[in-house]
Amino acid sequence: RILGEVLSHWAEQRGDRPALTFGERTHTWAEFDERVRRLSAALAGAAIGRGDRVAFVDKNHPACVEVTFAAAGLGAATAIVNWRLSAEELVYVLNDSGAQIVFVGAELMPVVAGIRDRLPAVRELVVVGGADDEFEAFVASAQPRTEAPEATPDDGVLVMYTSGTTGFPKGAVLTHRSVLAHGAATGTAFPLGSGDLNLVAMPLFHVGGSCYAIVGFLSGEPTIMTREPDAASLFAALAAGATHAFLVPAVVAAVVQAGEQAIAAFSRLKYLGYGASPMPLPLLRKALAAWPATNFVQVYGMTELSGAVTTLDPPAHRDPAHPQRLESAGTPLPGVEVRIEGSGTSGEVWVRTGQRMSGYLGKPEATAETIVDGWVRTGDVGRLDDGGFLFLEDRVKDMIITGGENVYSPEVERVLAEFPGVAEVAVIGVPDDRWGEQVKAVVAPLPGESVDGGKLIEYCRERLAHYKCPRTVDVLEALPRNATGKILKRTLREPYWQDRSRRV
Ligand code: ATP
Ligand code: MG
Repeated sequence: RILGEVLSHWAEQRGDRPALTFGERTHTWAEFDERVRRLSAALAGAAIGRGDRVAFVDKNHPACVEVTFAAAGLGAATAIVNWRLSAEELVYVLNDSGAQIVFVGAELMPVVAGIRDRLPAVRELVVVGGADDEFEAFVASAQPRTEAPEATPDDGVLVMYTSGTTGFPKGAVLTHRSVLAHGAATGTAFPLGSGDLNLVAMPLFHVGGSCYAIVGFLSGEPTIMTREPDAASLFAALAAGATHAFLVPAVVAAVVQAGEQAIAAFSRLKYLGYGASPMPLPLLRKALAAWPATNFVQVYGMTELSGAVTTLDPPAHRDPAHPQRLESAGTPLPGVEVRIEGSGTSGEVWVRTGQRMSGYLGKPEATAETIVDGWVRTGDVGRLDDGGFLFLEDRVKDMIITGGENVYSPEVERVLAEFPGVAEVAVIGVPDDRWGEQVKAVVAPLPGESVDGGKLIEYCRERLAHYKCPRTVDVLEALPRNATGKILKRTLREPYWQDRSRRV
């Protein structure tokens, strides 16, 4: 199957029913399909064809989805680019993507116009939104395409850049096959039925936005999209009847901290998915207590696998027989195999599934390092319990080796997060002449509170083996995070490692 068949199917079956709402505008499945077919014809007219790429740079906007579907029908892929990148990073990513046409949100035009002459492969910029919406003119410029799609299941659909948490972002090429396999599998964890409304709030430049959106489109139920996952937009979507959502832990934290009204508004969600970075246990406990009727689904996944590969399902969140599984990332989705590489109980998590990317765009060496005999090396360390539940321990690159002992930073972070007054915490390895590395905690206090480093270390020593406890504590106002809310540990480590090299 190919992606476009999803649209033509629902246009035929449910043509006059709502498909996608954004702000004041709602398009039916028939309108959605017609716009995509017009756009396909317009792209073909602009000499976009099989194997080509276009790019999209904006906050969330339905045009992004329309461009993706339209290009996909021609066998071309859309690179959805993080709009928060600096001008220098944008130059790198846009050139790396090989995009020939770039769709740019009016808000982002000043930045992109400033780098225009450094994008030699780009033939055309199309402004989306704003006073004179070139995108609408582009759509209107062609008659709906009626020819059969030219794509095959193994053509690229999306070029999704990894978050760049551990290094430079790489463009993962996701095919029709990968995103449809992900959509079908994840659909079993987020069942959408009559009367449901899927909320897409996370950025579309991340699989948690774009590939999660495809889960909803496959179901034939309507979607409501927000420009950003800010409180006001989320509340508006909930007021409009959203029943299903995927949010990252940082956004869940913001909702829980926003107080009673916010908590009450969220109680109407039937399914709340969360993941993409570790969920602090105290926060998860608060959320479970605040929303007793909500089905919580934890998602573990990555860009290279189109998104989710394991889920902790709703019953496992409220299972008194296995309370420790609340800290696990759950079990594999249908069509996914997980194994732990190495001889010990803990090792690198390897995943085999039809959801995987075809490779990193233009990076055969990085691809060969990541895909081994059809298995994807996730770069995460984990173990499986006797019920097959995956417990993530750390990223291979963030694990600390001190005096020959492995310290998994999240294990220490989980303890420190319970210390009164702590809002955010990261545990990193810094150089130590005797032990190789020593454990350091970097914490940010809750608003109006302070954290005493000495007491924090003492607290940790009462609860964890001595070698796992931080030897020093840095207190910052806030921890550096990337656009998907992940703490950038390499940024925290950097000043300490300037004149030395780390294992990785
Ligand atoms: P880069 O690969 O560029 O360093 P990244 O790995 O952060 O960036 P993503 O593909 O967005 O880019 O994130 C995937 C990673 O996020 C996983 O490998 C894992 O480390 C982390 N992750 C995803 N889901 C969870 C989860 N439920 N719990 C803990 N960590 C998670
Ligand atoms: Mg990664």
